[in-house]
Amino acid sequence: MKQVSMLAVIVAAIPLVAWSQRTTYLECGAVIDEKAAKPLGPARIAVQDGKIVAIEEHRPNIGLGVGSGSVETIDLRNETCLPGLIDVHTHVLLQGDITAEDYDRQLLKWSPEYRTILGTQSARKALEYGFTTIRDLETEGAGYADVDIKKAINAGVIPGPRMQVATRALDVTGAYPLLGYAPNVPVPHGVQVCDGADGCRKAVREQIMYGADWIKVYSDRSYYIDSNPPAGITPAPMLSDIPTFTLDELRAMVDEAHRQRHKVASHATAYNGVHNSVEAGIDTIEHGDYISDADLKLMIQKGTYYVPTLYVGEYVAEGRAKAGAPVWLEMTKISADTFRRAVKAGVKIAFGTDAGGFDWNINPAVEFELRVKYGQTPAEALRSATVVASELLGMQKDIGTIEPGKLADIVAVKGDPLTDITVLEHVDFVMKGGVVFKK
Ligand SMILES: [Zn+2]
Repeated sequence: MKQVSMLAVIVAAIPLVAWSQRTTYLECGAVIDEKAAKPLGPARIAVQDGKIVAIEEHRPNIGLGVGSGSVETIDLRNETCLPGLIDVHTHVLLQGDITAEDYDRQLLKWSPEYRTILGTQSARKALEYGFTTIRDLETEGAGYADVDIKKAINAGVIPGPRMQVATRALDVTGAYPLLGYAPNVPVPHGVQVCDGADGCRKAVREQIMYGADWIKVYSDRSYYIDSNPPAGITPAPMLSDIPTFTLDELRAMVDEAHRQRHKVASHATAYNGVHNSVEAGIDTIEHGDYISDADLKLMIQKGTYYVPTLYVGEYVAEGRAKAGAPVWLEMTKISADTFRRAVKAGVKIAFGTDAGGFDWNINPAVEFELRVKYGQTPAEALRSATVVASELLGMQKDIGTIEPGKLADIVAVKGDPLTDITVLEHVDFVMKGGVVFKK
């Protein structure tokens, strides 16, 4: 024991550079720091052993190229370096589902194995787009394949982002596709079905046993415009719904998840789904196309995160309207209004896109432009995908900013995202944990 502590003292006394450890220097034209107020000037970021060890400003003209021995320098002098982006709402196992037919085909005609192969491809695309961390919010009928994709990424078998996963999601009997088949034809479901407080508590236990980091619940379905909301509910008209779980069921799932130190994400699109979720103490509201003014206040009080998904709403609206649900066209206007009110109210807004709900060949970073269009500053939009998202994931000690001690998850773009947010759709350098995946 004594020898070990002596060694520890010696190690601590030697400056890091004295070690013949491999060092990578990123020579950046500009760096966006935690506040994302404006980019810092030229700076050199030193990376060792997967972590950021130092940032020195105003060092633009260091000798470039591959250094001798254990030093490598990467020339990003024409680029702005920023923290790796975080998308907290993805589905790597889903390949776009505008209509019920698109969805049913994936569950009925594609095996879970084939879907997993496609899922590995989605994960690689996410990383190449610049998303070094994602929260994947359920497999849509592909079982626990997200746990395996995460495992393969962490083991270095396939390239992909850091992942937190939700496995199968939960919904009540009769609420989630596949629906509309004859009673005598058994079909798969895109979720794990559970009913009753005890039944749903057991389902939460089961999912955590098999590797769920998050519990995902579906709190509502069947949306419609209600022009005369109950007294005291503003604004009108409101988007209403059929709530799926009872408040009792939701509370049981939240209690069980929290008891096991896991968090709960709730798909809640309209009034009742959102209201019940916030009441029950869930951690993140997904979509939240309509949130009443009173519920926005309650979310601030409880620290609930709001994860709007503006792009996917516009992406599916026309197709779903054509397929017989014109409410989706109205919903894009309602969700833009909700977003504006949430920004004004000061709710914690994180960056999620529902990628997989739209084609993975579309860069999920298209979401940024809509967020700026509907009321966030570019800096706020970027922070929602870095600092705020890292806090939502409980990973703020490791990711979300470029500072010494954090993991070296760094991306670079040409131009300044704080003046033109759309440059984030063209990330051309990606480093995750000190390893370069795109250059
Ligand atoms: Zn989703």
